[in-house]
Amino acid sequence: MKGDFYNPALETMPAAERAEFLNAKLRRFVGHAYRHSPAMKAWLDKAGVRPEHVRAVNDLERLPLIRRGDIIKAQQAQPPFGGFLAAPMNKVDRIAISAGPSYFPHQSSAWGKAFAPAYYAMGFRPGDVVVVTFSYQYMASLGGDSAIRTLGATVIATGTGNTEQQMQIMRQTRVTGFYGGPGFLVNIIKKAEEQGLDFKRDFSLRTALLAAEMVPQATRKLLEQDYGLICSEAYGTSEGQLAYECSAHNMLHVGDTQVIEIVDPATGKQKGPGEIGEMVGTTFHTTAFPLIRFATGDLSFYTDEPCPCGRTSRRVARILGRVEDVTKVKGVFVYPRQVAEVISRFPEVVRFQASVTRPEHKDVMTLKLELKDGSVDKDKLTESVNQAIQDTCRVRVDRFQFAPAGTISEQAKPLVDERKWD
Ligand SMILES: [Zn+2]
Repeated sequence: MKGDFYNPALETMPAAERAEFLNAKLRRFVGHAYRHSPAMKAWLDKAGVRPEHVRAVNDLERLPLIRRGDIIKAQQAQPPFGGFLAAPMNKVDRIAISAGPSYFPHQSSAWGKAFAPAYYAMGFRPGDVVVVTFSYQYMASLGGDSAIRTLGATVIATGTGNTEQQMQIMRQTRVTGFYGGPGFLVNIIKKAEEQGLDFKRDFSLRTALLAAEMVPQATRKLLEQDYGLICSEAYGTSEGQLAYECSAHNMLHVGDTQVIEIVDPATGKQKGPGEIGEMVGTTFHTTAFPLIRFATGDLSFYTDEPCPCGRTSRRVARILGRVEDVTKVKGVFVYPRQVAEVISRFPEVVRFQASVTRPEHKDVMTLKLELKDGSVDKDKLTESVNQAIQDTCRVRVDRFQFAPAGTISEQAKPLVDERKWD
């Protein structure tokens, strides 16, 4: 719905004004990082970059990408923060932990202020009572918790597991918002129905932020259509990036206080709109742990076209895969999740697996399909699938194979590289 914003001035800022707003924030942030984060200062010094060299988002190309592995290495050498901490500890109210372990200082007020507009856009409102069903050691929970409370809603930190009790809590406290995994929400609803309850009548749930590496679209549709929930997905990292859905339910808006570049992972060069590359974030609310050009390892593309919702921030596509999963086929980069997305448009196909081989020094792409019903017109189906693959992935399938029911594993990788390079 147009006109429904948490912070209209910020969210609907005209393009030219937004560019200058972000450039000014970037200059301040780089200066702050250089002065207060010894690790970031060393990183810039090593690259021969002085803060005054970074005047605008385009100048970021001069800087190297910083990866999670660099942070973990620095933190192991110099625990806990590896020289990245840029605030006095009495200004840090929580520490999030991610794999490694690595440690991320969290400032509830800064994160809350930065993320509240996103949660508002996803349908959360003042007065909501929201269950957060993830473990509280992670930034995903802490960031969401801060945002929900900042926008005037109440959090119940239920954590993971115990479906029965979660169901009781949701009913008794008249929970209106859910933040957690889609499968878990479905289990809670099933549990309620097993006990003879009517989820739509006996519960007050209205809004759900579904977080998982990949949300099954069939589950999302079920929650939206059968249970009338407003569902959204978001993208976030421990390092502070956030991109979120709006009411247009299409691409994800980049938060207003951050820059997301899409770059060539090998060179760090910025890509243009619609070009696939690695998401690289510089987030201005993370002043306690300022990272410049954090490379996420996730692949996406962006658009700066206006969104029907009225927000003017850059939008990125849902993650297309990981940088390390990209396979070059016939000279074209093919992303496993792109193939998966194309196949998901064909309800006739239950499972699939693409593979690449290289007989006689030429790449051959094979697509194995397992069909719901073997009696469909296979020629017509393969023609449509091949056209869709070519439109999206810019590469042609050379061979189609039909697998008997139950022979492709549910865990099968969407794209396997079987080429031998000896
Ligand atoms: Zn929008």
